[in-house]
Amino acid sequence: MSQPAIQLGPNFIRNIVDEDLASGKHKTVITRFPPEPNGYLHIGHAKSICLNFGLASHYQGCCHLRFDDTNPVKEEQEYIDAIKTDVNWLGFDWGEHEYHASDYFETLYGYAEKLVKKDLAYVCDLSSEEMREYRGTLTEPGKESPYRSRSSEENLDLLQRMRSGEFDNGSRVLRARIDMASPNLNLRDPVLYRILRATHPRTGDVWCIYPMYDFAHGQSDSIEKITHSLCTLEFQDHRPLYDWFCEALEIYHPQQIEFARLNLTYTFMSKRRLLELVNEKHVSGWDDPRMPTLSGMRRRGFTAAAIRTFCTRIGVGKSDSVIEMSVLEDCVREDLDQVAPRAMGVLRPLKVTITNYPEGQTEEFVAARHPKNPSMGTRTIPFSREIYVDKDDFMEDPPKKFFRLGPGREVRLRYGYIIRCDEVIKDPVSGEVTELRCSYDAETGGGVLPEGRKKVKGIIHWVSAAHAVPIAVRLYDRLLIVADPAAEKDRDYRELLNEASLEVLSQAFVEPSLAEATPGATFQFERLGYFCVDSEDSRPEKLVFNRSVTLRDTWAKLAKT
Ligand code: ATP
Ligand code: MG
Repeated sequence: MSQPAIQLGPNFIRNIVDEDLASGKHKTVITRFPPEPNGYLHIGHAKSICLNFGLASHYQGCCHLRFDDTNPVKEEQEYIDAIKTDVNWLGFDWGEHEYHASDYFETLYGYAEKLVKKDLAYVCDLSSEEMREYRGTLTEPGKESPYRSRSSEENLDLLQRMRSGEFDNGSRVLRARIDMASPNLNLRDPVLYRILRATHPRTGDVWCIYPMYDFAHGQSDSIEKITHSLCTLEFQDHRPLYDWFCEALEIYHPQQIEFARLNLTYTFMSKRRLLELVNEKHVSGWDDPRMPTLSGMRRRGFTAAAIRTFCTRIGVGKSDSVIEMSVLEDCVREDLDQVAPRAMGVLRPLKVTITNYPEGQTEEFVAARHPKNPSMGTRTIPFSREIYVDKDDFMEDPPKKFFRLGPGREVRLRYGYIIRCDEVIKDPVSGEVTELRCSYDAETGGGVLPEGRKKVKGIIHWVSAAHAVPIAVRLYDRLLIVADPAAEKDRDYRELLNEASLEVLSQAFVEPSLAEATPGATFQFERLGYFCVDSEDSRPEKLVFNRSVTLRDTWAKLAKT
């Protein structure tokens, strides 16, 4: 697979890389995307992927895909597979550069012994509670562990016995000997190894001690000769530790650079929270189209190109912010407008009988599949005496500016005739409008307007009842009712969920040209928005369409009124 043309705008990281190349500090650029396989990737990860792979391709370097798989309790093969699918789908290729932190377990353990031999690490028997107490706070220095003064020989012996499984889970840890009074809590003798009997997806039961994230991450970067190790701002306080390990171990020293993480309005952006949504069945799975995951967005009909454009547009900076969801949706609209074939669909059908059109007669209109792209060809739209229009396109007592159907009013059927509403039929019990009886002007077919004929303002979409294909449609709305969930720390996250985030319309119709639409295909339903054939729940006999986005940003409009 070739690298996509991801347009990486100028940013402060590029400036650093430019300087490093100019000064000769580096001859090439090697970056990495290092997901922990404990969940599916979300749009925040896409920012990191586009940045890391984008930098590598900009400088003709390379980008590694590294699984940061140091916590066997939370990691699964399912996640590893899903991550690869998603990175590929986004359009990036790591070639032969797939790595796993677990491949370095032996090397990392060797590093641990090296620190012990240099008297820079010790085995500590404090319980985790005691360790917390000894750690101090931001305003108080920590206290030294009574085990801190163990000899190097004793530490080496204990570490080897930790590895060989002599001790219980959690009974001992290996810690770096740095500075219990450091103003940076990360430097107060951080834990390097813990005892944990858990089967690892790759190393099985070979290990009963596992390295902590901070001890594995920078060293993995070093082993892979990463030049620029990009991470999000919350790791700024970990950088002194990152540097300390490289120096203490006397190994190749990559440069850690922090950038602002992506947050989006009206959604969560933490794998832990997303996992809760899945486990508690607030959504149908990681790929529920309401999720901010790449698999959810794909299923909803968002394109990889749109997500890449979004990542370019938001840029890379140093201050955290929350990006409007509408910025992402605009990117999706722009892309789908170009690539999605057009079709007519009716979401909430209202039957219309054209009383002066002969019973049993059918005619066909021909329309372009795309107004600006003739190479997409044409489609045939049958017309007959009974059609469906959308309930929203009729009002019994419409205001003057409602250019759609109402008693006595005329509209043009898209690609077809001008019709007039002569009679409104209602359910005698509920009073609900069940049918409109209209008449058509036979002179006005196929968009023709005979001389002297009054033009009509409104054009509405429709489908021929006899030819319509029944479908189900799912309309998605914001996952949350608040823009910034981080500002709602005191509330249970379940209170923030939008109960109306999914509406299912099971009696919708589309024009027959979509009868054989394939899963994953996306269309513009004229006047309504973009809709994607669901890849899981669609059956040949009943397609299910997910609404990707509306045609315009209805949220911006609502905010103004
Ligand atoms: P989460 O907080 O969702 O669990 P994480 O950082 O723990 O995310 P990782 O699998 O460790 O998840 O992330 C892999 C890479 O993606 C890391 O380099 C991380 O910095 C980056 N990343 C994660 N979330 C975001 C985000 N919201 N914006 C930008 N980059 C992110
Ligand atoms: Mg992480």
